[in-house]
Amino acid sequence: MAVVIVGAGMAGVQTAVALRQQGYTDGLTLLGAEPHPPYDRPPLSKDVLLGKAADSRFEIDYAELGIELALGRRALSLDADGHQLRTDAGDLSYDQLVLATGAAPIALPGQPDSAFLLRTQDDAVALKAALTPGARVAVVGAGWIGAEAATVARQLGCEVTVVEAAPSPLAGALPTELGERTRAWYEQAGVRLLTGAAVSGILPGGPGSPGAVHLTDGQEIEADAVVVGIGARPDTGWLDGSGVALDDRGAVAADERLRAGGVADVFAVGDCASFPSRRYGRRLTVHHWDNAMQGARVVAANLLGGESLYNPVPYFWSEQFGRMVQVAGVWGGDDEQIARGDDTVLWVRDGRLVAVFTVDRPRDLAQGRKLVESGAVLDLAKAADAAVPLRSA
Ligand code: FAD
Repeated sequence: MAVVIVGAGMAGVQTAVALRQQGYTDGLTLLGAEPHPPYDRPPLSKDVLLGKAADSRFEIDYAELGIELALGRRALSLDADGHQLRTDAGDLSYDQLVLATGAAPIALPGQPDSAFLLRTQDDAVALKAALTPGARVAVVGAGWIGAEAATVARQLGCEVTVVEAAPSPLAGALPTELGERTRAWYEQAGVRLLTGAAVSGILPGGPGSPGAVHLTDGQEIEADAVVVGIGARPDTGWLDGSGVALDDRGAVAADERLRAGGVADVFAVGDCASFPSRRYGRRLTVHHWDNAMQGARVVAANLLGGESLYNPVPYFWSEQFGRMVQVAGVWGGDDEQIARGDDTVLWVRDGRLVAVFTVDRPRDLAQGRKLVESGAVLDLAKAADAAVPLRSA
């Protein structure tokens, strides 16, 4: 038997490791387009950008585990009927294939090469060099990546302006009033935040002359460095014509056991995939670290003939402006929103917790996550009382 995994990020690496942990002893190839040893992405916008860590590679002995690493090798297309992966270094046969190609950052139309994205180790190293004390840095997008990049740039002594098209920060991820709460964090950190500000173009700078971000209202923000953090799309373009089913956002449409739709013997995991959530009754695309980690274990079990269901409580964290923001679960427009003190928000459906949002409240997060998992009915009065441990609600 030969298992080939395409994509050597968190999801791909963890699938390979989990396969070995779960007793798989046959051929195992892990293919990664980037030339670097596999690494973890969250530190890129934190310790690596800050200069506290040179890199964030996983400490894994691939040779010891019998994982054949094929780095700097890109999958170009897939012949699913013939069980052949076409790559830029020749074809690879497989018995079972795992798609773990992650997501690629979205660039602005006409974005100059001098503007920075923040997805890869190379991106982080290049951006870090531009974050010198006093540099004027414009960040386009006040989402998770934009907020973290602004945090670090400010810590490094840059003058930072964040430009966000939506009316509030984190608009794509949080209800407006929660995103709005973070506005004060920018002010306190000395970061200028412009919301409702759409970018019409980026003027590249040259030697001795700064670049600029132009807004549709005519404003111009001079910048020595421009960082674009406006989201990421599943990196699945190379699967065109393969028969692998994609959803309407371009993610591999996997089933609840993370088998890719439309083809046999192919699984999909991490940022490149979506899956139907039994817990939430809808298809989810989750671009967060924990999803890549948890999904990998399920894929490994199912590659080995298991029937494991992937039914996670999605979780993520973000470190911004000296605060730890954490979210577990998924909410919908009909769910009741309950404030538990100033820093925890709960979403409840039919008396049961479905999601929890916290700022610097790790206990609430941990206990809330367990309650979401268990589906227990809550005493809502107790749940709203920050003096009562959430687990007792
Ligand atoms: P990726 O990590 O994107 O890995 C996919 C790999 O596949 C890439 O290395 C890519 O080069 C390779 N690849 C793509 N196409 C091909 C191909 N055709 N052939 C071969 N290889 C290919 N999540 C959190 O929960 N909290 C955080 O604080 C957080 N911080 C983050 C900070 C940054 C800067 C970034 C970019 C992400 C952050 N995330 C965070 C998200 C988290 O890192 C991702 O959800 C996670 O990396 C997804 O893992 P993955 O393996 O699915 O995809």
